[in-house]
Amino acid sequence: MEPVESKGSNKKRIAIAFFICLALICVVAAGLALFSVYNENHDEDSTTPSQKRPNVIFMISDGFSPSSETFARTMSTAGSSISNQTLLPLDSMLVGLVRTYSSMSLITDSAAGATAYACGLKTYNNAIAVDDNIKAQGTAMEAAKEQGMTTAIVTTSRITHATPASFSSHMSDREYEEEIADQQAKNQSVDLLFGGGLQKYTNREDGQNLFATMQDRGYQTIQTYDEFKEKLNMPVIGLFAEQHMSYEIDRIHQDPIEEPSLTEMTIKALDLLKENDNPFFMLIEGARIDMAAHAHDAYTHYLEIMQYQDTVNVVKQFVKENPNTYVVSVADHGTGGISLGQSFYNGTYPDPYMWYPANLLGQIKSTELMAQMIIENGMDTLNQTVLEYAGVELTSDEFELITYATSISENAERSLRTVLGSVLSGRAEIGWTTPGHVGVDVNLYSYGLRPSSFYGVKENIDVGNELWDELGLSDTMKQITESLSDMTFPPILPPETQPNKKYAGHH
Ligand SMILES: [Zn+2]
Repeated sequence: MEPVESKGSNKKRIAIAFFICLALICVVAAGLALFSVYNENHDEDSTTPSQKRPNVIFMISDGFSPSSETFARTMSTAGSSISNQTLLPLDSMLVGLVRTYSSMSLITDSAAGATAYACGLKTYNNAIAVDDNIKAQGTAMEAAKEQGMTTAIVTTSRITHATPASFSSHMSDREYEEEIADQQAKNQSVDLLFGGGLQKYTNREDGQNLFATMQDRGYQTIQTYDEFKEKLNMPVIGLFAEQHMSYEIDRIHQDPIEEPSLTEMTIKALDLLKENDNPFFMLIEGARIDMAAHAHDAYTHYLEIMQYQDTVNVVKQFVKENPNTYVVSVADHGTGGISLGQSFYNGTYPDPYMWYPANLLGQIKSTELMAQMIIENGMDTLNQTVLEYAGVELTSDEFELITYATSISENAERSLRTVLGSVLSGRAEIGWTTPGHVGVDVNLYSYGLRPSSFYGVKENIDVGNELWDELGLSDTMKQITESLSDMTFPPILPPETQPNKKYAGHH
């Protein structure tokens, strides 16, 4: 029995040894596997920045004073208690202030304002990515494209307007928008363009059809909301209005809605950029925040700001999923001098201090559209139009003020929309100081990655330069400036030939 037993126990020992070996092999294999997984993750973490460069989302809220942010925050809870106010998406991103003056004035226009960021350079008002000597200057977006990044512009203005133009073209004067379109179409430094300004591409004074040019170069070209909703392919240009896109207040009351919103364009653009899977440089502009402030149209200004805030939320969500992304949001300048609280000096202080934001809530059309309708149908339709689209019954004093201001103006429609805006704002105790821009500092916001130097009060050109330096774009920008040194430009246009410059309403 013993040998049998012994044989049996030998078998057992062999079996036990076998299982121990197997277990050991399993443990070692599992350990190795875990180690290699750890190593992979560890390697990925430590090498990702050098392997895949970061994305850049540069956002510009045109004409957005710090007081515009306070106004929007307050409006968003109009009608309820002041203590109920909640912060807006931009509020948690505040890191500093930006000084906005141009090389010629404390008060910049959008061309010099955008050039300061795009090229890191102070220049004269109306200059599009050229210096004081009218020499072309390489932009960060051009440098990004040169280095193999994908580039994108999303705006609510004409795509040829000062801000997008200053990142994607070079011109002596912002008024040469057909030439700007020509450069955008032929240089192809931008892979995705969404905005307005179709007329500058397809219905031009020189008869060229730049959509045809871009199709020849492989761009998908679209111009309707229906086309926008389809599956798109890059490179792509989508221009959804002949001129600027509609104000959000007018867009949401279109039936059917004819254009995408800033937020929708941003979502679509980010989807395409994600699909493309290449580091990208994107400019997003809330362009008409500025224009509503020029018109003193407070409620329209508010809805433009809130559309921009929604877009900020979309961008924040993208960064949560793609943390290797720089996000900066700045204004080029403030507009209108909006303030909360106004009264006309009569020897006493207002007491109590009044604030009636809820008085704006009945407005369903911009003063721009109301003014167009009133001019078209006659001033005797003023009361009825304002009642229908602003929910306000004008007093006889207000009626007289509006008709008088309109009658003495060289540009009745422009005056009408602005004085109507002032009257409606007055009912909420919102004051405006100018139909133009102001020289106050603007807020600097950031999310995701940012240069460590982004705090305190900064020059607009340093916001650009420090960011482009950190992203490794500055040397390429200098090389592009060199390569453009032979570029020549038409003369700067004198103000009296330009209706926009002549009236105090230049954007
Ligand atoms: Zn402006």
